[in-house]
Amino acid sequence: CPAIAIEQKVSTSNARSTVGTLTEIYDYLRLLYARIGRTISPVSGREVKRHQVSDVVDYLKGLAPGTRVQVVAPLPRKYADRTVEVELKLLLQKGYTRVFIGGELMHIEDALDRPDLPKGKTLAELDWQIELLVDRLALPEEADDSFWVRVADSVNTAFYEGEGNCVIWHADGHREAFNNRFELDGIEFLEPNPQLFNFNNPYGACPKCQGFSKVMGIDEDKVVPDKTLSVYEGAIACWKGDKYGRWLDAFLAVAHHFDFPVHTPYEELTEAQRELLWTGNEYFRGINDFFKELEEKLYKIQNRVMLARYRGRTNCPECKGKRLRKEATWVKVGGKAITELVDLPADELLAFFENIELNEHDRTIARRLLVEITQRLRFMCDVGLEYLTLGRLSNTLSGGETQRLNLTRTLGSNLTSSLYILDEPSVGLHPRDTNRLVGVLKALRDLGNTVVVVEHEEDIIRSADYLIDIGPAAGVHGGEVVFAGPFDEIFAKANDSL
Ligand SMILES: [Zn+2]
Repeated sequence: CPAIAIEQKVSTSNARSTVGTLTEIYDYLRLLYARIGRTISPVSGREVKRHQVSDVVDYLKGLAPGTRVQVVAPLPRKYADRTVEVELKLLLQKGYTRVFIGGELMHIEDALDRPDLPKGKTLAELDWQIELLVDRLALPEEADDSFWVRVADSVNTAFYEGEGNCVIWHADGHREAFNNRFELDGIEFLEPNPQLFNFNNPYGACPKCQGFSKVMGIDEDKVVPDKTLSVYEGAIACWKGDKYGRWLDAFLAVAHHFDFPVHTPYEELTEAQRELLWTGNEYFRGINDFFKELEEKLYKIQNRVMLARYRGRTNCPECKGKRLRKEATWVKVGGKAITELVDLPADELLAFFENIELNEHDRTIARRLLVEITQRLRFMCDVGLEYLTLGRLSNTLSGGETQRLNLTRTLGSNLTSSLYILDEPSVGLHPRDTNRLVGVLKALRDLGNTVVVVEHEEDIIRSADYLIDIGPAAGVHGGEVVFAGPFDEIFAKANDSL
């Protein structure tokens, strides 16, 4: 059978590897967001939807019988070098008879005869509003299926001729616009797909930090090394001395104009107040300006020294350390962006998914993915890692944490008939979680695997089905099998053991 050593060290050299990618939970999250994520416009907070023919038909079905509307498509501009005359004649050939010019309905032949129509202009140059009348409808008292089939045909035609645009124009002048492109509030959005949420992929990664979450910049921790100090007491380390201290004096002289609490420790300032110190306002120039000024005179050696002193790896200002391009954060599941979920500890994330409310359609699509996600999160909690977030970098984990994470990944894969070897999985584990770890190891056994554990922790030893004690002492004084057998025989048979 295959033997699998579950290692303590991080075997990946990828600096972007996280708990989420290591456990594969993040991969399932990406699929989940691609399949059932809803894109919310950051401008209006409304959901971005690609209109289907059925959306327009449903809209019309909601209108009162007797309502008169016209199905209209804007004049297509795809063939930008065609002249207006050529395009109108083509429409005639396709069987259309009437267009709106500046909102006025007329036969296409009459339009072509209009002396003021810029017939020779290309479509790219045209600044007139020309629209195509596709159909006129009077909604009947009792509409039968054949009526709605005709409506759907007309709407489909309008979308086609209008390059994705269709307008329902009411007799009272109201225009209800639909488009089958993925846009809202004048923004063209990206269709969610798994790569959009992948910070290891150039498509999904934040363009500024390439998904690393950190960039070189002025480090807040270096500028404000002691956050218990107030601004007045000198919290801002770079604003000191004869020369640079003037920046602080200038700030203190005007702070009363905007009620800045100069005696409050930096750590107790609000987010907005701290931000203000960096950005400045109409009364004073902030920390950002201070460093910008230093950068403008790099030929001065003391400026280069100052900049080097405060420079460090800082959170990426573009993605705020979230690693993904901003479009990805506009996609929500259960009201939350994927970047919010990776900041939650595993147990809270598990609770989020256990209580998530989805409609029937989404639930059906997501069922399998939700099983994979919640199962793995439960494994994480079972091995005592409920405090880890998915966003945590793999290379900041301890050996014990890494091994237990690798264990959850193994459990998730449901492999059977394998031999697993673990070296002290209890390292760094809180004693109260030992039983849960034992439970996980037994679950692995019950799947039909053999589990070999090298361990000193007594509770784990006690739980073994079969014990091999190698001793009698450590290092060169050991090396002999002192005992081999079930745990309850060890006291009777091996005096030197343990
Ligand atoms: Zn970034």
